[in-house]
Amino acid sequence: MGRAMQTSLSPQGINLDDEIGGAIRMSEVTDQDLADRLRTAGIALTLQRLVIARVLLSRPIHLTADQVWARARVIMPEISRATVYNTLDLFERSNLLRRLIIDSEKVVFDSNTAPHHHLYDASTGEVTDISAGELKVIGMPTLPPGMELEDVDVVVRIRPRVE
Ligand SMILES: [Zn+2]
Repeated sequence: MGRAMQTSLSPQGINLDDEIGGAIRMSEVTDQDLADRLRTAGIALTLQRLVIARVLLSRPIHLTADQVWARARVIMPEISRATVYNTLDLFERSNLLRRLIIDSEKVVFDSNTAPHHHLYDASTGEVTDISAGELKVIGMPTLPPGMELEDVDVVVRIRPRVE
């Protein structure tokens, strides 16, 4: 499957109308939708970038870089770790996703770029969304001179109750 799709990559990008390109069309978000999002963000289209967009941008999801790589390899076995990492950096710079630092060992990429908070279960590593309306932060610290507020995101850490 991966080799077949590689042959659909032309110097101009991907022919989204061919049936091979359609093989990675798995959800309601079409490759065309994803390609449009990348173009709108100013990102040149490649098959690798489209595969990573398919993994990460077709629904709200939180994945580590290595999880993105593992899922991308299901679609395109030859995709390299470096390509995935570089593409995640590019998508982040283009505001298509957010890098969420849970702690020094846990960083996930979040395809939901709207303001929201997170629930983190350290026992499973699972990160889930809390809507901005569900958790309100009251009060704001005095910001250093010359600084403005960019965003407030809260990680609510949970663990199984010990009975
Ligand atoms: Zn999130």
